Amino acid sequence: QDIPTSGHKRVLVAAPRGYCAGVDRAVLAVQKALERFGAPVYVRKQIVHNVHVVTELEAAGAVFVDEVDEVPEGAHVVFSAHGVAPAVVQAAADRGLQAIDATCPLVTKVHREAVRFARGGREILLIGHARHEEIEGITGEAPEHVTVVDSPAAADTVQVRDPANVVWLSQTTLSVDETMQTVRRLRERFPLLADPPTDDICYATQNRQVAIKKVAADADLVIVVGSANSSNSMRLVEVARAGGARAAQRVDYADEIRQEWLDGVTTVGVTSGASVPEVLVREVLAQLAEAGYRDVEEVHTAQEDLVFALPKQLRDDADGVS
Ligand code: SF4
Repeated sequence: QDIPTSGHKRVLVAAPRGYCAGVDRAVLAVQKALERFGAPVYVRKQIVHNVHVVTELEAAGAVFVDEVDEVPEGAHVVFSAHGVAPAVVQAAADRGLQAIDATCPLVTKVHREAVRFARGGREILLIGHARHEEIEGITGEAPEHVTVVDSPAAADTVQVRDPANVVWLSQTTLSVDETMQTVRRLRERFPLLADPPTDDICYATQNRQVAIKKVAADADLVIVVGSANSSNSMRLVEVARAGGARAAQRVDYADEIRQEWLDGVTTVGVTSGASVPEVLVREVLAQLAEAGYRDVEEVHTAQEDLVFALPKQLRDDADGVS
């Protein structure tokens, strides 16, 4: 699709943006659990990394905790979209909690790959952010076999036991380009490094990066709606900068947009992370319209129609309730 260039103020909105299938399912799981079991429903960690979503669910009766030992015995607890280590599942069972697993199926896929490679005696180089919940969960599947590589630079120093027996996996929400750079650097040191059977960086992360790259090439400023602890949102800021935008800023809410960001800006690009409800993007567009950016065009690079079934305890046919 050609993007028309013109001198007047305009907004290019990336599509796809916002909610992915995994986030949609996780948020719906908490809502359904509240409906079905009543408040409070406990949620281990933020269900998805978005301030607005967490605040709204809290208002509806969700209680967010850091660990399952904060949940009263016998209560319902939802595991977040980012996944949990087996030790957390066990701790919840030991406490007699009713666990509902909202882990994104695409994260579960990486867990399974880690287990399979570990059973085969492989050493796993897991590319991702060491303190991110997703990485903690995957590492917990096979701690003896996993070493986290958290940047391209770390690829130059990471140590392995047997360079002939290593495979790489990755967090689902990384920058595609940076991850490939990390893999190249790893392979320079370990030529026998094996690839995962399929991409670990998920379709939603990839699609949002492709869309914002196209927008960024024509934008003076890119605004990414998303929270600071949202890995895929932060990557969108980086991809926008690398993709040619003069500046890229992240906001949780429209009122964080500063007047000076718009100085001399003709074209503003807008996108949102995979955990961001569309209402927040609409508020950003309304704020930009007030500043004179009323010409809004969507830049489409992919169609998404993936939907994941709810966790089994919450499906309408789970207990005969419809
Ligand atoms: Fe799943 Fe990807 Fe969404 Fe994460 S960003 S919840 S891995 S679809």
